[in-house]
Amino acid sequence: MGKIVSTEIAAEATRTAPGSLAVPNSMQAWVLGDPGELKLVEKPVPVPAKSEALIRVDAVAICATDLEILQYGTPALVEGGPPFNKNFTPGHEYMGTVVALGPGVDEFAIGDRVTVEVHAGCGQCKRCRMGMYTSCHNYGLNYGDRNKGHRANGFTTNGGFAEYVVNNINTMIRVPDSMTDEEATLVVTAGTSMYGLTELGGLVAGESVVVIGPGPIGLLAVAVAKALGATPVVMVGTRENRNRIALELGADLALDARSEDVVARVRELTGGRGADYVIDCAGNQISANNAVHMTNRGGRICLAAFPKKPVEFDLGYLAVNNIYLYGIRGEGRSATHRAMAFMASKRFDAAKIHTHTFPMRELPTAIRYARDRIDDAIKVVVSNRIGRTAD
Ligand SMILES: [Zn+2]
Ligand SMILES: [Zn+2]
Repeated sequence: MGKIVSTEIAAEATRTAPGSLAVPNSMQAWVLGDPGELKLVEKPVPVPAKSEALIRVDAVAICATDLEILQYGTPALVEGGPPFNKNFTPGHEYMGTVVALGPGVDEFAIGDRVTVEVHAGCGQCKRCRMGMYTSCHNYGLNYGDRNKGHRANGFTTNGGFAEYVVNNINTMIRVPDSMTDEEATLVVTAGTSMYGLTELGGLVAGESVVVIGPGPIGLLAVAVAKALGATPVVMVGTRENRNRIALELGADLALDARSEDVVARVRELTGGRGADYVIDCAGNQISANNAVHMTNRGGRICLAAFPKKPVEFDLGYLAVNNIYLYGIRGEGRSATHRAMAFMASKRFDAAKIHTHTFPMRELPTAIRYARDRIDDAIKVVVSNRIGRTAD
């Protein structure tokens, strides 16, 4: 699987005994200082409340959104404001082992391997009641005297770049023994891709799907669409190595947006009509307009990227052609559980997008690899197991 790039893989024991699930009182955690600054500090180990469990973090994948939070703060929202210098621990794509249960929790047991989705909605607002808990109306209202029970670990509450983290049990998904830590960290990414297809209608067997932008969500959108029976599934990208991985994940075709007229090619592939579903994971003016113009009449477009600036696109073409447009945030409607079902039954190999693993204490180096795409990095994972003796 992914290679381990590390200068120090010395067997340095953590403070708990090797392989032990005993919970210490304090832990090491990375916290966000000023923009771009991560510091390793000692923090108390959090205590799980009702409906929560304490997870010993084993591995965390770095997401493009983590890089954004580090630099700009958004979309993290801590105590109603920017996340800087608030002792806030980012990291949201993690997996680990259950080591303590909150009062009344019997859905999980100590020792269970789990991976997580990000958002535990408040469970009481209109959107949470619809299963759209990533769009919770009480987003971030989990501090001071306005505790609505909302958690988005790594966004509004402490995340996984630490030794331990507390999760609502709704956000926890069992990991089969056959799945590596690294692959398990990718479940939430696949879940986001799955949510995009769910919001588009979800019945994609035999429908044509185009995915624009071969980042991690785009690449796994190809895999999930294929697993759901879509055909053809077309990847549109600009980087040859990423397009190649899309083909390995099941794309019928990968188009190079730099050298081909991708709108004409998609029309040609679909009998002149355009694709039934288009997922735009690039979110810029070119990709948005390509998405609009390559979509079939009555077709659907999912916007899965978060562009920072307004994007100009052909609104009239959308209206005249009865095209539906959806934005998604994260991984609602238990999409992560469905993505895990595919991954556990090996319908696709998400690990193809995992490229590097570093020890947790080398997080800044791991972040540099992810940000600068050093050595063709796609998904970079940091692990607490490296350095923990026997486990
Ligand atoms: Zn993410
Ligand atoms: Zn809610």
